[in-house]
Amino acid sequence: MSEFIGVDVGGTKTAAVLIDDAGQLLDRIQVQTPKEPERFIDAAANAVERLRTDRLAGAGVGLAGLVRWPEGVFAWGPHVPGTNVPAREMLTQRLNVPIIVDNDANLTAYAEATAGAGRGHDHILLVTLGTGIGAAVVTQGSIYRGASFAGEFGHMTMVQGGPLCACGRRGCWETLASGPALARLAREAVALEPRSAFARRHPEPTSENVIEAVRDRDPTAYALVEQVGRAFGLGISNLVTAFDPDVVIVGGGLGTVGESLIEPARRTLQENLHGAPHRIAPPLVVAELGRDAGAMGGALLAKDTLE
Ligand SMILES: [Zn+2]
Repeated sequence: MSEFIGVDVGGTKTAAVLIDDAGQLLDRIQVQTPKEPERFIDAAANAVERLRTDRLAGAGVGLAGLVRWPEGVFAWGPHVPGTNVPAREMLTQRLNVPIIVDNDANLTAYAEATAGAGRGHDHILLVTLGTGIGAAVVTQGSIYRGASFAGEFGHMTMVQGGPLCACGRRGCWETLASGPALARLAREAVALEPRSAFARRHPEPTSENVIEAVRDRDPTAYALVEQVGRAFGLGISNLVTAFDPDVVIVGGGLGTVGESLIEPARRTLQENLHGAPHRIAPPLVVAELGRDAGAMGGALLAKDTLE
């Protein structure tokens, strides 16, 4: 019986899981990701070493950025230092076990499609809302990659000359629908109405403050989350127009806020979808696998690719 490891190297934390060849979770760990350039290779290698057993048959590693498939070269990413890092080759030599390296959102989508909210669906679109937007399409069990880099939907330009994005361009979808977008809108609302209950409680608001205030039924916070929800739904409607998935899975920290975000997104999707009166928009559902989803996807894809 063989086992597989999946590793998800995030900006601050690296999560890893060990599964058996039936896909059952055997063990999991989480460690800090070093900040120095290319040290993410060390983080991934250490995580594999810590979970390794003598039944290990392969490992799948997810990186946040553009990854060449199947070479596993990390070309570039706005949140991870390092360019053109031959991650697959380096890890294979160092660990002496077959390795695949992929984009982290691709792996999250693969896990949700195989073992999460996408079960029973043939065409899934996954979008995670957090520091940025991660996204991927899985069609009939295969990740849609284009020539390599497909699925960077968070960087579709939604507003020409809009807010500055972490990628260096302006008006990307993730500048309108993400944790930082919510925080920026909240700061603007506080500047505009400094005497609102929200402004008095949170003179320098973070996205967490807004989410907290939504739970306390604060009207300003509701309006802010609604605005982000609509921007989110607008991007989703474009993607559904392009890919026609039969389910849209929403994950990430901000994605789990719930109906106050999902409801305006769903409404915008249904209003804005091409041919809207003559078709039914796919359901928007919340991701099921939580923080281990990316690591789980790495292990599952390694199992399905390397076995
Ligand atoms: Zn961007």
